[in-house]
Amino acid sequence: MSPRREILAPPSAPDGGDPDGVPSTGEPGPIAREEREVDVAMLERDAAVEAGIRPRRLGEFVGQGAVRDHLEIVLEAARMRGQPVDHLLFAGPPGLGKTTLAGIVAAEMGAGIRVTSGPALGRGGDVAALLTELQPGDVLFIDEIHRLGRAVEEILYPAMEDFQIDIVIGKGPTARSVRLELPPFTLVGATTRTGLVTGPLRDRFGIVESLELYGTDELELIVRRSARLLGVACDDGGAKEIARRSRGTPRLAIRLLRRVRDYVEVRGSGTITRTTAREGCEAFGIDSLGLDRLDRRLLDVLCVRFAGRPVGLTTLAVSVGEEPETVEDVYEPYLLQAGLVMRTPRGRVPGPAAWAHLGIEDPGGTDPDAWAGAPAATLFG
Ligand code: ADP
Repeated sequence: MSPRREILAPPSAPDGGDPDGVPSTGEPGPIAREEREVDVAMLERDAAVEAGIRPRRLGEFVGQGAVRDHLEIVLEAARMRGQPVDHLLFAGPPGLGKTTLAGIVAAEMGAGIRVTSGPALGRGGDVAALLTELQPGDVLFIDEIHRLGRAVEEILYPAMEDFQIDIVIGKGPTARSVRLELPPFTLVGATTRTGLVTGPLRDRFGIVESLELYGTDELELIVRRSARLLGVACDDGGAKEIARRSRGTPRLAIRLLRRVRDYVEVRGSGTITRTTAREGCEAFGIDSLGLDRLDRRLLDVLCVRFAGRPVGLTTLAVSVGEEPETVEDVYEPYLLQAGLVMRTPRGRVPGPAAWAHLGIEDPGGTDPDAWAGAPAATLFG
């Protein structure tokens, strides 16, 4: 088994979905999405840089202590048995390290990796071709696995369980089904939406791990490591400032680091310090909490336009010109975690931190139940 890395398909959606890989309803969004510095999805310009910075070994992977501990055990056990690792499913918001972990599993096992994504595997034949080309022990990484079609999933079930697939040769009355044996392999799936992975598929993963947003200390380590690899001088204060504004997401920490590097090279001494990091982030519209113009617009809709009344997801999304899925998957994880937005049974309300951040007084006090009896606000309400 010689280590290989093959990128089979970009993480884009050929079916008319969002080019950043965000789940789409198939309907065009109300307003075309802008490219955001704080967009957690991988932008085209990130790919090459990320490839050079990605940790290759478990020891280089920062944070996610529980996931790392579990992986250490299953990797060691698999190595001792001389067998591939059990199939793994990583769940969590974009940019937290799911693809990186798939690469680490392959590297730690001395195996090759094939990379593809749910939307790229449109037909059963696509996945059958991929599976039959695997070498013993290989890792097959399927990003956005919740977007696999039924036919593709059904080919995966026996492949995952018994390392075999049934393929149909020929057409019409002469068609016959042939069973093919596959080499043992490890399927690593990644999803931003565990709830959308079908039960039968989910049950076939031996290990399911959820990745959490990172703490500032962990992001600071990631910024320092990335600065070293990118060859940019960054002191502790600079790393801390960038980490604080990275919304708990390594991909954003690395992207902000690159923007601040541009800033200090053009406007500063070339070294990232607390002050130049702050100036650089602000030059790109990223505020002290890592929010950009679109996040602030969202908070503005909740606090000012609807004055703190509960707002339904669709109404909120339409108000900021986004799709509900995008608001839920891309904006909200961090806003919820930071206490800027709260979900209530009646809709979204601003958290206490939102009023403070916008510098306006909360008309309903900080009690989320203040609107308990009120109907959810609509665009016309
Ligand atoms: P996902 O697949 O969850 O969208 P990736 O694995 O592509 O995220 O990670 C995005 C970027 O963040 C990569 O450049 C990767 O190197 C970096 N990264 C993610 N997690 C970590 C981590 N724990 N330690 C160091 N770098 C990380």
